[in-house]
Amino acid sequence: MNDLAPATVNAARHAPAPPLAMLMELTHRCPLKCPYCSNPLAMDRARDEMSTETWKRVISEAAALGALQGHFSGGEPMVRDDLVELVRHAHREGLYTNLITSAVLLDKRRMDELAEAGLDHVQISFQGSETALADHIAGLRHAHVKKLAAARLVRGAGLALTVNAVMHRRNLHQLPAMLDLAVEAGAQRIEVAHVQYYGWALKNRAALIPTRAQLDEATRIVEVARQKLEGVLNIDYVVPDYYASRPKACMGGWARRFFNVTPSGKVLPCHAAETIGHLHFDTVQEKSLAEIWAHSEAFNVYRGTEWMPEPCKGCDRAEIDWGGCRCQALALTGDAAATDPACGLSPHHAMMKELAVAESAAGAEDFAYRMIS
Ligand code: SF4
Ligand code: SF4
Repeated sequence: MNDLAPATVNAARHAPAPPLAMLMELTHRCPLKCPYCSNPLAMDRARDEMSTETWKRVISEAAALGALQGHFSGGEPMVRDDLVELVRHAHREGLYTNLITSAVLLDKRRMDELAEAGLDHVQISFQGSETALADHIAGLRHAHVKKLAAARLVRGAGLALTVNAVMHRRNLHQLPAMLDLAVEAGAQRIEVAHVQYYGWALKNRAALIPTRAQLDEATRIVEVARQKLEGVLNIDYVVPDYYASRPKACMGGWARRFFNVTPSGKVLPCHAAETIGHLHFDTVQEKSLAEIWAHSEAFNVYRGTEWMPEPCKGCDRAEIDWGGCRCQALALTGDAAATDPACGLSPHHAMMKELAVAESAAGAEDFAYRMIS
């Protein structure tokens, strides 16, 4: 037993509880080019995407494993011709089905087909509250007006709607109008999410990171709106880690509640996990989801609390924030097992804050659009 790797010991001691949800990245293709996209810089190509039959098997395995929710995402999941078939399959398997979409490809026929197939919920991302800026951020003309039309289709079909408002230095002045947009669209919920700096967002951080004053004003606007819109619109608010004093419980804790399947079939504990280059990620072609969830080294290496270094080890928040984000720890400290520098107890915390202040004050304008190289 002594020569077992720590991850294996963890797995042997604690059989993991079933996951809550599976995020399916059906494709990395997308008509938009958002500079904060969470997709990896090296994206899967269309020829590498899994077949309909493989995705259906994966969905059945997720349901058998105990997952309750299936989130269809991408890239843009609507570029797949088999989306309706996959939603129907997930619905029949008993999963709550959610479509996370840019919505620029959603028309009446597709909406009706998805509703008939059993789709429960739609999340539409908005890049701003008005056409010029929103289309500029999206890198696609007429995207904004198509999204507004798509939101009407979702509500017309009787489905629940969430507006995803991804906020950053370039669009934060439109936050009040984004809240109005969500109410006018008939959304039940808006997720006001400051950009989290992974993937393309990390590459474009200097052009996107807000100033401290912008963040404080956004927080004030959200607090006022929560009171004013109580019973009308639920407002979720995600603050940027760079100004936080404690980290978020990234993915609810590594390999605790969620997993992500990439277009080519890799199974990840979070969508940014491939940035941790020394981890090997099993694929659904090689192993079942049940085997991967319970035994994959990549899942077990940071699961729970036994892997934690000081100051997380023994901290009374260890089972609240689970030490924060492993990908962010690697990106900013060079060590994926380090305490997330978003935590004020991390020795790297001051560096992270200084970085945010310096980059936001410099006010870089240029960003790189997301694109498949
Ligand atoms: S963030 Fe933008 S570019 Fe990335 S998948 Fe979503 S809509 Fe497409
Ligand atoms: S030391 Fe670790 S567990 Fe404690 S608050 Fe900071 S990140 Fe969370």
